[in-house]
This record gives sequence, structure tokens and C-alpha cells, in this order.
Amino acid sequence: MRVMNFSAGPSNLPDEVLKEAQENLFNYHGKGFSIMEISHRGKIFEEVHFEAMQMAKKLYEVNDDYEILFFQGGASLQFAMIPMNLNLGGVCEFANTGIWTKKAIKEAQILGVNTKIVASSEESLFDHIPDFTFSDDADYAYICSNNTIYGTQYKKYPKTKSPLIIDASSDFFSKKIDFSNIAMLFGGVQKNAGISGLACAFIRKDMIERSKNKNIPSMLKYSVYSENDSLFNTPATFAIYMFNLEMKWLLNQGGLDKINEQNIKKAQLLYKIIDESNGFYKGHAKKEDRSLMNVSFNIAHDKNLESIFVKEAEENGMIGLKGHKILGGIRASIYNSISFEKVKKLSEFMEYFAKKYV
Ligand SMILES: *Cc1c(COP(=O)(O)O)cnc(C)c1O
Repeated sequence: MRVMNFSAGPSNLPDEVLKEAQENLFNYHGKGFSIMEISHRGKIFEEVHFEAMQMAKKLYEVNDDYEILFFQGGASLQFAMIPMNLNLGGVCEFANTGIWTKKAIKEAQILGVNTKIVASSEESLFDHIPDFTFSDDADYAYICSNNTIYGTQYKKYPKTKSPLIIDASSDFFSKKIDFSNIAMLFGGVQKNAGISGLACAFIRKDMIERSKNKNIPSMLKYSVYSENDSLFNTPATFAIYMFNLEMKWLLNQGGLDKINEQNIKKAQLLYKIIDESNGFYKGHAKKEDRSLMNVSFNIAHDKNLESIFVKEAEENGMIGLKGHKILGGIRASIYNSISFEKVKKLSEFMEYFAKKYV
């Protein structure tokens, strides 16, 4: 029996993906070795690697203006690589919508890049996506599409002539997006598309060009990744294998539109319980900016009930519901692999809990 896992990341993986990995763990497709035990330069691993890239591009329907790159170091290493590779000595603009954008801004500042914060929702504990416009001539304009801790998400990305960079770690591969405005979309894959150890970026070729003539160590330079198909050094081969299986799973689900439909239904179920609880539950995010991925809420009726909620949920087979330590409260992460049925179970538990303790 597997529990219902609402962890924020690393998070639940589809049963089908885990089973396929399990079946092949000891003896990869009858070859007598595990995928973890072979060279990243051999044909067998290369197939996994390039197929993963192809499937990822297919899911987002990106054209040949973009390359997909694989990194280690998580999304957090990109906070430093982006300013290193993409700043042109001008201004780099940020919208500050939570801890993850703050960290990205900090890394850029450590590197001495000229940063400008065009908007912030920090004063109200990042409970909404602020209104703002980026300049048209920034070196780049940076946002985080889904704020994992606070449960806010952009419904529309800002229009700007500056190259738009998006940290999509926590809503990666959750819906189709229009790339026409996007210079780089990146994320760690352990939240919505795989396991830890792998970060992935869709990056427009003119951005890779920017890094070419810069004096940057090889492992930190986009053009090195590009020229070597992300095989400059030994990549996280098992994480790439798992990412491959996830991409295949997503395609088998019918692609990103189908997954998005499901994600909308799941989130609506939980927000409805919150909104109709007569103030027992209170969502953290403003309604118009609510995330489909992370539902962060408090038990406004009595905050002391929050730890009891987490404990009783666990007794009912639901784990990972404790909110991030910065915000407290409850957070249900309902990424791609969480089925509607599991979210239904959680919503029923929430209803039951509110009745019991009101
Ligand atoms: C989790 C998370 C990160 C950090 O990812 P790492 O892979 O741990 O570096 C960055 N951005 C967002 C939005 C996240 O949710």
C-alpha cells in the first residue's frame, strides 16, 4: 500500500513510472546490467538521454529556436548561472514573488550584476502576484511562475520586449505555454517531472550565444552544455532516466492540455472546500492568483488545530501536508502525478475535519 503523498518536492511519482524503473533496475531490458551502471557515452544511455530531450520538447511543442539543456545543481545553481551567462552589463529586472525569487536576486547581486526589482508582494507575505511591467531594454526580465511556498501562480506571463526568464520548478510540464515571449524556462525536475539531481532548461539560442564569449568556467557556461548536448561531464544518469520515464508517462496521459484539465479540476476541489468552510479554513493566496499546484492554507478557526490536522491526515494515509516552515499552516502539493481520486480523498478529509473541530 502506498500512501497519498502531498509533499512539495521531492514529491510523488506516478506508480507506472516507479514500477517500470523497478522492473528494470536490476536488469535493464534484459541486458544484464542496470542503467546506473553503464557509461554515459555508450549507445544505451545516449538513447535514454536524447529521447528524454525529444519528448520534453514535444510536450511543450517548442520549435528549433530552443535547445533543451540538462544540469546538476538544481534550480538553485541556475540562480547564479543566469546572471553569469546572460547579463550584458545592463540592468537585470526581477519581480519578487517569494523566497525563490529572493534567492535568485541575491545570487545576481553576489555576482555584482545590476539588479532592479520592479515589483514585490513581500509586504503581504507574498499572497499575490503584483501588477508590474518590465522595461523593454533590460538584459533580461525574471519571474517565478509558481511560488511553491505561498501557493501563488501567474495566470498570464508578463509581456515584455526584454528576454523573459521563468523559474518553472514547481509548475514544470503542468500545462502548455506560449513560448513566443520566453527566452528561458527552467526548473529542478523533482517537483513535477522526476527526481532530484536534474535541472532542465529550455533556452533560446540567442541566449546561448550570449555566453559564448564570456570568461566563465566550463561547467557554468551555457554554450559548453549546448556544444556537448549536456554531456560535457558525467550527468545525473539515473535522474535523466527517471525524467525520460516521466516524459513518456505525460505523453501517455495525453500531453499537457490533458494534464492541465486534470490539474484544474483537482485544485478546484480543494479551493471549494476552503471557500465554503465558513472561515474554518483560509487560503493564503488571493483568489485570482491561486496556484493549481500548491494549495497553501491555514486553519483560521484555530491555528492550534493545524498540527492535529497534519497528524490525523497521516493516520488516514496522507503525508506531506505540513506547510513550509516560513509560512506554517498546511500545504497540499497536487502535482501532475497526484490523481483526482487522491485529491478527492483529501477534500473529504478536510470536510470531515472541519465538522469535527468547528
Ligand atoms: C524548489 C524550488 C527551487 C529550488 O530547487 P532546487 O532544485 O532545490 O535548487 C527553485 N525554485 C522554485 C520555484 C522551487 O519550487
